[in-house]
Amino acid sequence: MLGIGTKNLGIDLGTANTIVYLEGKGIVLREPSVVARNTKTNEVISVGSEARDMIGRTPESITAIRPMKDGVIADYDTTVAMMKYYINKALGNTNGKPYVMVCVPSGITEVEKRAVIDATRVAGARDAYVIEEPFAAAIGAGLPVMDPTGSMVVDIGGGTTDVATISLGGIVSSRSIRMAGDKMNDAIVQYVRQHKNLLIGERTAEKLKWDIGSASLEAAEQMGTTEIRGRDLVTGLPKTMEVSAKDVSTALQDVVENIISAIKGTLEETSPEIAADVIDHGIVLTGGGALLKHLPDVIADATKVPVFIATDPLDCVAVGTGESLKSIDVIKK
Ligand code: ADP
Ligand code: MG
Repeated sequence: MLGIGTKNLGIDLGTANTIVYLEGKGIVLREPSVVARNTKTNEVISVGSEARDMIGRTPESITAIRPMKDGVIADYDTTVAMMKYYINKALGNTNGKPYVMVCVPSGITEVEKRAVIDATRVAGARDAYVIEEPFAAAIGAGLPVMDPTGSMVVDIGGGTTDVATISLGGIVSSRSIRMAGDKMNDAIVQYVRQHKNLLIGERTAEKLKWDIGSASLEAAEQMGTTEIRGRDLVTGLPKTMEVSAKDVSTALQDVVENIISAIKGTLEETSPEIAADVIDHGIVLTGGGALLKHLPDVIADATKVPVFIATDPLDCVAVGTGESLKSIDVIKK
């Protein structure tokens, strides 16, 4: 037993969402990785979904910050403030400091990793350890990571898409690209601006992606249109407009193609044995980006390998990070 009386935590510190797993209990908290601060005093005003609703709507005295960018810490102090809040919330009124396992994308530098460990300690951990995100995702998705068989997992989050093949308890080959859900939202904002002369916010773009975005242009033809609101670039006035699923999906193509290239590249680097295992078991998708409509079909079509979405794709990394708390004893020795 570690830290008698105190339960340990697994934290998925994502670019879009932070998810906390409490040892012995499971996931206890899921919140957007957003903090609202007073611009003058720096005081934290709110954290999580309340802060997210403020994005794009703040007066001068408040700023809503997403402290993680592309899978790494972009704003150290705000990350610490956010983690402190979530650690306290997850632990409730138990005493003592927890050991904390945090996941990090596979491609990050030692300095970026160090920053995550330091931030977690400052936020209240007795000590902090990191686990590579694709490995955690694979554990959370229930893949046989310890077996002598190759598995492939593709985690599509807000900031990064992490692709990895895993066998015998380790990552065999991996790629991390800074192209995922956020870039999809940006692409929609750009597209609507260029082709419709309408300026829309990040949240409106994200909602469009969820509602009528598709990885397949062909499928998008059958999906109809929806109404959006923004600011007309010509008149400068608010405006309502129809946008089609085809428009949204056209905007998404570039990011989807980049994700497919990363998967193909990783497959090309794997040994014939692991490639054969992947054909047998298929590719498993995790992360919120896995929910983009028709993404599994499009990836399967491009790679000729079956593709599945993990159960509860948004939770996989947190569950895997939490389950790996069991090995903290081993890591410490
Ligand atoms: P991170 O681990 O980086 O915090 P998540 O795994 O939580 O990211 O996934 C968040 C991303 O998933 C966001 O970009 C969000 O827009 C996207 N997402 C969530 N649900 C859907 C959906 N139904 N369709 C498309 N994208 C989605
Ligand atoms: Mg993630």
